[in-house]
Order: sequence, then C-alpha cells, then structure tokens
Amino acid sequence: MTQTKKDIRALSMEELQQFFSQQGDRPFRGKQVYQWLWNKGIHSFEGMTNLSKATRELLETNFVINHIAVDQQQRSKDGTIKNAVKLFDGRIVESVLIPVKDRTTACVSSQVGCSLDCLFCATAKLDRMRNLNADEIFDQVVAIDQQSKAYFQRPLSNIVFMGMGEPLMNYNNVMESIQKITSPEGLGMSPKRVTLSTSGIPKLIKKLADDKLAVNLAVSLHSAIQETREKIMPFSQRFPLVDLMESLQYWYEKTARMITYEYVVWKGVNDDISHIRALIDFCKKVPSKVNIIEYNAIGDDAFEQASVEAINQYQEFLTASKITSTIRRSRGKDIDAACGQLANKQV
Ligand code: SAH
Repeated sequence: MTQTKKDIRALSMEELQQFFSQQGDRPFRGKQVYQWLWNKGIHSFEGMTNLSKATRELLETNFVINHIAVDQQQRSKDGTIKNAVKLFDGRIVESVLIPVKDRTTACVSSQVGCSLDCLFCATAKLDRMRNLNADEIFDQVVAIDQQSKAYFQRPLSNIVFMGMGEPLMNYNNVMESIQKITSPEGLGMSPKRVTLSTSGIPKLIKKLADDKLAVNLAVSLHSAIQETREKIMPFSQRFPLVDLMESLQYWYEKTARMITYEYVVWKGVNDDISHIRALIDFCKKVPSKVNIIEYNAIGDDAFEQASVEAINQYQEFLTASKITSTIRRSRGKDIDAACGQLANKQV
C-alpha cells in the first residue's frame, strides 16, 4: 500500500520546527520552510534554494505541497480576469481579479458552492460541496497577485471575500487564511485591505468582532424589512434583522469599524419608499455606509433590476439623511464574473 504523504501546509510553524528538531537539524529550518510556503507562496521543495539538497530531499520524502491550479482564465473587455481554480481533489471554484484605477482587488471564494439560499445568486443554486482549506484560499490570493504583477505591473492591493460561499460558515479556515495573508511571516498585507462579506450570521459576526482581526465587514442586506428579506434570502428566517443589528452594534463597540451594507434594488421587491425608510432607520443604528450594487442577471427572470429613477431615489434619500452611499457598476459581466454570477460555468 502506498503511504499517503502529509500536506506540509497543514503544519504550523511550531510543528515544522519540531519536525526539524526531531531530525537532528536546527529548528530555524522550520522558519525558513514556513517562509517559502507562506511568504513566497512556493509550490515545490526544489525551489527552496536556501536549503541543502539533502534537506529538500528529506522534505520530498515526507511531505507533499497540495496546491491549486488555475485551470482556465477568462478576460473581460474591462480588464477583469476570472479564474476557474482547480483544487487538489479536482473540484472547481472561481476567483476574480478586478482592476480599479491604480489598484487591483482579488475576489476570492471560501466554499465550493454555498449552503445558503439567496434566490438571486447563481452560487446558491450549487450545493455546498465542501469548505476550502486555508491554503486553498491563500493560493487564490497568490495567483491573483502574480497575475496583477504580470498584466498590470503592480501587486495586489485589496482582497474581498465575495466569491463563492459564505465565509463565516467556514470560519476557522477563513480566519487561518487571513492570518497567513496578513502576518509578517506570510504575505504581510494589512488587514485593513481585507473585506469579509457575509450574508449576516449574528453569532459569527460577534465572534469575528471578538477575534480582533481588524478586517473590514460588509453585510449583504438587500432589505431592512424582515418580511422582504426572508422572501429573497430564506435562511434569514433563522437570523432575523433584530439579531443581525444587535451583532453589528457589538461589532462596532469592539472594533470601531464602520460597516458596509451591500444592497441591490429590484423592481417590485424593494424599490418603494417603505424600503428606503427602513434602510435609513437601519443605517442610523450603527455607523455604516451603503453600497448599491447593480443586479447581475443569473439566467432566470425571477428578478429584475429596478429603474434608474428608483435607484437614484434611494441615493437622494440616503444623502438627505447623511448616510454615505455609492452606486457600484458591475465589472466582468461579459464573462459571468460579477457579483452573484460565479457558478462554475465552463466556456
Ligand atoms: N456569501 C457572501 C459573499 C458572496 S456574494 C455574502 O452573502 O455576502 C457577494 C455579494 O454579491 C453579496 O452582497 C451578494 O448578496 C451579492 N449578490 C449575489 N447575487 C447577486 C446578483 N445576481 N447580482 C448582484 N449582486 C449579487
């Protein structure tokens, strides 16, 4: 029987140091290897050039480095790049590089599919197959950083957890990936450049506040009226808006970081004045701003983007109430790379 080797990236720095001590080598080697894996994002032992040949062979005998591979790349006419990413077990997720002026944002996936059931989202139509490991999330970031350098001559500047999946439902692995992305031994990116987007799971928002990771929080609100929200995001029956608000107030108390509400306005769903009023009341309860995002069609006609007038009316009322809002145009629509369109459609 062939013995399956352990994935070296499942080991912490301490465990790597221990491994080398047990081999009669200096624990410092563990740190060197850790830096190759998490600072340089390298995928082969052979490339660890400051280790002796014997050490590289020792690693080769004992471990593997499971890693993702960009299986297919599609480029939008607006510069957006969508990657179909193959995981080590052959499953596919998608990640997106979004060039914005002189910055590059990576939109990463946290689960294969999604366990939530937002009616307007293409990913929700796929079953949740499994959570991504921390390294699979990390690798998406490294791949997009490399693409940004190659195509735009600049490193990646921001990361948003707005790809496939609900990041808070894969809490531990997402936290570990953020730790590897932000720690000095890892990629050393500032947590201020990381935004976690959640459909709103109160208990886990509180946990995130307690964990003090200093990342930004975005909440997919779409309606501040419970009855409407339950219709379009059925899981929210279990997580009512009152509980969501309580968790957001807790978040602000603990972190002093403003919350962003993501909001799509649909014809006949939430484009009337009662929804605008409810949103304003909701926003006043905790420091926040609103990102009005364009609806991206997902191939059925259940939802339709509201009129320009209705969307402008939202912004006028929000502004009059001193609530900051932006109207965000979608990127990468022509390649199904925009919000809510990630569904592993192959070309
Ligand atoms: N599960 C997380 C992150 C993934 S989606 C969350 O719910 O926040 C990223 C954003 O796209 C969310 O605000 C989501 O509500 C929104 N979205 C989903 N489907 C969309 C669609 N078809 N058009 C526009 N935005 C959509």
